[in-house]
Amino acid sequence: KREERVLNERTGRSAEMFKRANRSLSGGVASSYQLRDPWPIYLERGDGPVVWDVDGNQMWDFHNGFGSMVQGHAHPVIGKAIQERYAKGTHFAAPTEDAIAVGEELARRWGLPQWRYTNSGSESTMDAIRIARAFTGRDTVMKIFGSYHGHHDTVMVSIGVEYDKIGEPDDLASLPYGAGIPQATVDMTVAVPFNDVGAMERRLEKLIAQDRKPACVIMEAAMMNLGVVLPEDGYLQAVRDLTAKHGIVLIFDEVKTGLCIAAGGATEKWGVTPDMVTLAKALGAGLPMGAIGGTEEVMSVVKNGSVYQVGTYNGNPLGVAATRASLIEVLTPDAYAHLDALNDRIVGACDMVIQKYGLPGYAVGVGSKGCVTFSPTKITDYASFKANQDAELSDLAWLFNMNRGIFMTPGREEEWTLSVTHSEEAVDAYVEVFDELASDLMS
Ligand code: PLP
Repeated sequence: KREERVLNERTGRSAEMFKRANRSLSGGVASSYQLRDPWPIYLERGDGPVVWDVDGNQMWDFHNGFGSMVQGHAHPVIGKAIQERYAKGTHFAAPTEDAIAVGEELARRWGLPQWRYTNSGSESTMDAIRIARAFTGRDTVMKIFGSYHGHHDTVMVSIGVEYDKIGEPDDLASLPYGAGIPQATVDMTVAVPFNDVGAMERRLEKLIAQDRKPACVIMEAAMMNLGVVLPEDGYLQAVRDLTAKHGIVLIFDEVKTGLCIAAGGATEKWGVTPDMVTLAKALGAGLPMGAIGGTEEVMSVVKNGSVYQVGTYNGNPLGVAATRASLIEVLTPDAYAHLDALNDRIVGACDMVIQKYGLPGYAVGVGSKGCVTFSPTKITDYASFKANQDAELSDLAWLFNMNRGIFMTPGREEEWTLSVTHSEEAVDAYVEVFDELASDLMS
């Protein structure tokens, strides 16, 4: 309550803006993920690793646009690319050379030859699933309990940490996330627990027996919507082998991991190549860019025209110009080495704080991403997250951070993302605030 009162006192301009916003924006925000009680914090500007809200509060940015700004805010290289493109026209709905250059670079990084563009992560996963359905001629989709893949109907099932129940692990039935999702669509998606290939195999056998073999398994190689949950040794390869054996398209949703944890995302990090990859968020360096990559075989249904993979703004010149500059000039091997070193520093220091105060939790990270997980035991999947993660402590940590100059992702299921502009000073500031929280809690 004290931390909440302090934050509300510090954000008076946001409160005023919220009143105004409510008259024209539903709930006073542009997206439901921006909602917050009693009002959202409206931001004004960002520069490198720092952001300012409309009250002038200056904060180190660990939120980074839900992990989209791994390049840092207002990066001069990206700015130059956008300005140069702007001067030559921003949209034609015709391909430009930058679109080719980006496709070549993504093919090199992911080892998947064929690419298409979208404007968001949701569009990428929606199109990837359609391609998999067309390629296999099957309807059922398999996903992981608790994994978020965007806001289209097929994947808005079996998620939501606020729910008591998102489906029974041994049942094929799924539950929708929010209203407005047709039951017939929900019934076509089946969820399985992460890090458990045995459970996936058992569920597959049941589905095959019912003549409902899935078109695809869509999953994050490391779960990034329950904090950070890493794959256990051998898990991804076992999923790869199982899906290959059954002719099921394996889609790695790399909307969060791609570009953020290695040059070639989770695919490079764990050395397991899926049939398709979906990208967005950090791909566009702050512009709404998404992409789908796939094998020649799977993507042939796009090439031969049987699937319409379309969109007025797909491959928008401004988006691909920013993306090209980001891939070639900003997200270089040195940039990834910098992110790895900084993340090791913050994860290691948070773990030391945890040990110093005997806090029930642990720090976990990969590439630019990580979090402190408030749980006495290691979280490996949705069920262990629901059973062990301390929601109250996670909420308190967010308020505590906000009041001390650390802008963090809201909600107990998100993680930090470092940017290439973050320095030791930035991560040490995070650790200092975490130390203060731990000391307050344990004294
Ligand atoms: N896939 C994953 C793994 C995500 O985390 C998200 C968004 O958080 C999406 C897809 C959807 O992306 P977007 O919000 O750009 O539609």
